[in-house]
Amino acid sequence: MGLFRQLYYLHKVRKNQWKSIDELRKIQNKKLRKIVDYAYSHVPFYHDLFKKVKIHPSDVKYVSNLNKIPIVTKQDLKDNFPEKIISNEFDHNKLKIWDTSGSTGLPLKIAYDKKADDFVKAVLLRSYFSIGVRYFDRWCYVSPPEFEKEKGRRYAITQKSRFISPYYIPLYEPIEKKIELLKKFNPRVLESQATDLFLIARYIQENDVKGINPEITVSNGELLDDYMRKYITDVFGVDHFDVYGCMELRRNAWECPQHEGYHMDIDSVVMQFIKDNEEVSAGQEGKITFTGLFNYAMPIIRYDIGDVGVPSKEMCSCGRGLPLMKILEGKLMDFLKTTDGRLLSPHLAKGFLLFVQGVNMFKVIQESKEKVKILIVKNIDYKEETNVTIEKTFKKMLGEDVVVDIEFVDKLKREGRKYKVIESKVTTAKLI
Ligand SMILES: [Zn+2]
Repeated sequence: MGLFRQLYYLHKVRKNQWKSIDELRKIQNKKLRKIVDYAYSHVPFYHDLFKKVKIHPSDVKYVSNLNKIPIVTKQDLKDNFPEKIISNEFDHNKLKIWDTSGSTGLPLKIAYDKKADDFVKAVLLRSYFSIGVRYFDRWCYVSPPEFEKEKGRRYAITQKSRFISPYYIPLYEPIEKKIELLKKFNPRVLESQATDLFLIARYIQENDVKGINPEITVSNGELLDDYMRKYITDVFGVDHFDVYGCMELRRNAWECPQHEGYHMDIDSVVMQFIKDNEEVSAGQEGKITFTGLFNYAMPIIRYDIGDVGVPSKEMCSCGRGLPLMKILEGKLMDFLKTTDGRLLSPHLAKGFLLFVQGVNMFKVIQESKEKVKILIVKNIDYKEETNVTIEKTFKKMLGEDVVVDIEFVDKLKREGRKYKVIESKVTTAKLI
């Protein structure tokens, strides 16, 4: 059932992308009314929020009315999970739960109902199909821990047959092992987070590795700067695509082969670009807020993701009706440098801390090659011996001589646009 539903949604959303922008906006407004109404009736957090600011779902008929609703933060989702943020119509145990931390170092759980999960997978596939991925493809995803393998019969079947299902290589593996697995699999489509794809490209270049010849490369999950894009493109010599999204709502925008911007998935999400509580005009930059239009188990409305982008009024020459945007500031993390001079993926550190019990928020600062400071906002589940585990893990990653300084703080504030959850004073994303 699930797979058929996903394919049905895929058929629908693939058709949607060629509809006119006016038609798509109609679909968007209709879905918006439905989910706002639902959230008010079934999700205590939104019910209380709407009451507090004295608005009723009938006040939100169009996207342009959304600014009546206060901005919702990650902290709001975290504090109200699960009882107050999950719809009272769903059994928590039957929902699919994703762990995420995004760019703030605040571990967060997001629940999806089954229909939403199928729909969002269809939206993800639409972007992949648009750049040339096929139903049965040698598609490899070097993935962070948030994308731990799914379980169940359906997953087993799609994995075995390679039917719209990537082959996962865990990001945790040492680079040599990843290269070995990639050579064995020889993907036609190679996807990873920008920093990790860059590290793979760099290893291939420096060691003159043969036998990894993707026809399409894809980066996701963090801001791809021009330097990394050029480097990846030069090494593989193929068209590179960047996609934009978040674990809270998965795919939100993506590049088509024309590369004229990122097409926004406006039939699945509302992306607003906000400055001083107003939507900016085309060409102006604004903080991105999201409203998901498909997940009834845990509606996400007027959600501040912390990224900065620019909406465009130009339409893409590919003919798709999905409007364009550009990302200016996204999830940016620095590479870490080991004591023996290797560059290390920031996802290793982030992925580890994300799953440490008792950690509410974190930030890693590599002060020097010999010293790393970890700021932690802890909760009552944090145990004393956790310090030792964290210290050991960081020494293993960076080198045994590294001094690991754990500091507990009351809060970690995002300070401006340059905030990085993994920051290094030794190396930066741009510096090799
Ligand atoms: Zn296009």
